[in-house]
Amino acid sequence: MSMVQVSEKGIFGAGETEFGGSYVSEELQQALDKLDAAFTHYRDDEAFEREFHYYLREYVGRPNPLYFAERLTRELGGAKIYLKREDLNHTGAHKINNTVGQVLLAKRMNAKRIIAETGAGQHGVATATVCAMFNIPCTIYMGEVDTKRQALNVFRMRMLGAEVIAAKSGNRTLKEAVDEALMDYAANYEDTFYLLGSAVGPHPYPLMVRHFQSVIGREAKAQCLEKEGRLPDLITACVGGGSNAIGLFYPFVDDEGVRIVGVEPAGKGLDSGVHAAPLCTGKPDIIHGFKCYVMEDAENCHSIAAGLDYPGVGPEHSYYKAIGRADYVPVGDEEALQAFLHLSKTEGIIPALESSHAVAYAMQAAPRMSPDQIIIVSLSGRGDKDVAQVYDMLRAREGELQEA
Ligand SMILES: *Cc1c(COP(=O)(O)O)cnc(C)c1O
Repeated sequence: MSMVQVSEKGIFGAGETEFGGSYVSEELQQALDKLDAAFTHYRDDEAFEREFHYYLREYVGRPNPLYFAERLTRELGGAKIYLKREDLNHTGAHKINNTVGQVLLAKRMNAKRIIAETGAGQHGVATATVCAMFNIPCTIYMGEVDTKRQALNVFRMRMLGAEVIAAKSGNRTLKEAVDEALMDYAANYEDTFYLLGSAVGPHPYPLMVRHFQSVIGREAKAQCLEKEGRLPDLITACVGGGSNAIGLFYPFVDDEGVRIVGVEPAGKGLDSGVHAAPLCTGKPDIIHGFKCYVMEDAENCHSIAAGLDYPGVGPEHSYYKAIGRADYVPVGDEEALQAFLHLSKTEGIIPALESSHAVAYAMQAAPRMSPDQIIIVSLSGRGDKDVAQVYDMLRAREGELQEA
């Protein structure tokens, strides 16, 4: 029996360790029940599974390599570091695994349109991509402030044929985009599919996203057994909502000898309050329709990596923390930036700033381990999208140095 206890309603654990579930309006619950019934049916359907794997192979480019980072390993002088190369997927990150899975489910449910919300735009682009490929109309909600900050991603989504709607209420960022998308969904769920981008939200989303992202961990496990003849000692991934992390972790969760470490963005430091690390500092609470660890001061939510900037976290990570199956550690903006630069120089791989958090942790852990031990890092995405941001930050520093 698996050590992960989860009910049919998506409730992980019980009592003190209870997370997940569904806390939404009656209309939304109807929509979620219909989605849950479809997911429960198709997750075990052979034809569905075959089609999913067809597109993962032919469109996404899977399996991607489990790459031995030889120079980085040698330089650190400890455990062997392997990188699971989600950055080599079509569109450059793990998000496409989940959007392909959900769009196939939407087709099976005869949805006429797909909606999604996006913060920095990465999930919006991944959604618009699969909607273009499957020829389904697509509407993306994005806070008006974010549409200005990420104008190029808005253009990308429009190029892919999506309609982008700027949410103009409140702070005009992700929260307002979520509110408007949920209103649309509650009103139109008969023919509309809400495509969620991470392992968060009310049931069945966390289990569904885990299902589609678990291909990461299943591949990594088989590849590690093939290359090394044994399981890794440590697996690690960055945690925003937690989808690339749960995708890597879940297939290893019952392997007791495998240590699991999730890396949360500590931003400007846990003490500063300016971070996005609910598992390291938060308390159990309800956010966006489900129970999880939530940051005390969500208004200060920040990370150098826009994709990690979320005040809550997936319920399954909350549960792993509560039962002690995984550890969650903080890595700040500056350490992530240094790992971004270092991996680029030593391996010729420019990682996403999100992924750089996990790389930074692996660089701390490896020298404390022995050369016959193995670490697997989820390299969730490529860093091309972050190059301009890093350029501006380093230039501003040079400016500071010259003035000083
Ligand atoms: C969106 C994103 C993340 C964070 O999302 P999770 O659901 O926590 O995986 C991490 N890395 C990259 C490259 C992303 O685009």
